[in-house]
Amino acid sequence: MIIWGQYEREKPEDSGRFTCPRCGPHQTFTLVRTRNYSHIYFIPIGSRVIGERVECDSCRTAFSVAVLGGDTLAVPSAFEAGLDHSTSLSGTYGNVVELLPAAVEEIKARHAKSGFSHDVVVRVDPVRSSARLVTVTFDEAVADGQDWIGQSCGIPIIVDRRVAPELQGSKIAYQDGQFVRT
Ligand SMILES: [Zn+2]
Repeated sequence: MIIWGQYEREKPEDSGRFTCPRCGPHQTFTLVRTRNYSHIYFIPIGSRVIGERVECDSCRTAFSVAVLGGDTLAVPSAFEAGLDHSTSLSGTYGNVVELLPAAVEEIKARHAKSGFSHDVVVRVDPVRSSARLVTVTFDEAVADGQDWIGQSCGIPIIVDRRVAPELQGSKIAYQDGQFVRT
């Protein structure tokens, strides 16, 4: 008989300094991840992240990983934007696009109407059939390095690394009922 199964475990996986929305700047945080492990005879054979949170070491409040996007720098080139996923936490954060004022207003209005929590982030994707149109959807940020996590005008933004070279340096406008890159 082969004993095979799965279990979940939560543990601290990273730490660093950040600006806590409650305590202010110069705080330290702990990144806590929950993983689902597959095992054979209780020896782990693989895991995947099923949840993560950033915990302030001072006030113990838990935040979405998007909270670390606050002081993020711009990804400097299309080449760097397209580099493969990063294993370091800091290598996950970078600003690929910027939002122009009308786009900020429209996203805020859509978010207010949606009833989504404050933890959702905005995913920006190019539209395949168009050189200018982009889609804007609400999503959850996961700091696994597959996406760039950044922010513009206080709105957390994620961009898939596979499409990031195409979007790098774009400013996102809202014109005639559509999001476009300029
Ligand atoms: Zn705090």
